[in-house]
Amino acid sequence: MEFLNAFIGLKDSLLDFVFPPYCLLCNSFISSDETQDDTYPQNLVCRNCWESLNILPHPFCPLCRSFLDQNLSRCPKCPQSSSLSLNRSLGVFDPYYQTLIHHFKYNRKFSIGKNLGRKLGEILKKEEFSKGFDYIMPVPLHYSRKRERGYNQSRILAEEISKTVSVPLMEKVLIRKKKTKDQTHLSPEERERNVRGAFVVRADSTLQGKKVILVDDVMTTGATLKECARVIKEAGAREVVGVTLVVVNP
Ligand SMILES: [Zn+2]
Ligand SMILES: [Zn+2]
Repeated sequence: MEFLNAFIGLKDSLLDFVFPPYCLLCNSFISSDETQDDTYPQNLVCRNCWESLNILPHPFCPLCRSFLDQNLSRCPKCPQSSSLSLNRSLGVFDPYYQTLIHHFKYNRKFSIGKNLGRKLGEILKKEEFSKGFDYIMPVPLHYSRKRERGYNQSRILAEEISKTVSVPLMEKVLIRKKKTKDQTHLSPEERERNVRGAFVVRADSTLQGKKVILVDDVMTTGATLKECARVIKEAGAREVVGVTLVVVNP
């Protein structure tokens, strides 16, 4: 056993010698003592880059995008606000987050998503608005896209947040029934039309009177989150808030 462990250790250090880990964000060499620390994505990002990621100070209103301070769970300026009461993003989309999310979403670098999810969960734990929630739900992928990619990145985030804040994960209740177009080049109005009617909640859901945290990777106009929140509320939920890794142009 000892021999085997020594062998595995040797193999790892040989691999590091042949393919030394470089930070995805700044290209600098990641030293071996840094890679012993599992509080951030080992071997992928250096400690300095990880700690320099921009972090938003507060949750914000999904309509007017103004920050909501500690005791507000709704925007006072938008009384007829949307189905989504507020949104909390870890940071603002920038080239660093873009690289990290790309590797997480398309390159199977799960440790990036898990560590970002944990970071987000730690922030939620400290914020007043996140108290008293019943469920955490990931924004679902259409089954055909899930088959292509093999996993739903929002589910990985939701699972990690669920563990960190100790709120149960509710899966397979919110379902994406329509395969929507890629939204990258759509206008805000087109995005709304694109997702309209794309989601359903299973008829036997137990959402009556519940408070739900909805999780996605990126918020742009918020069309997807708002449409999900709309059907979740139609199914009886009392409140829905959004939580995403990043927000584009808040
Ligand atoms: Zn770096
Ligand atoms: Zn507002």
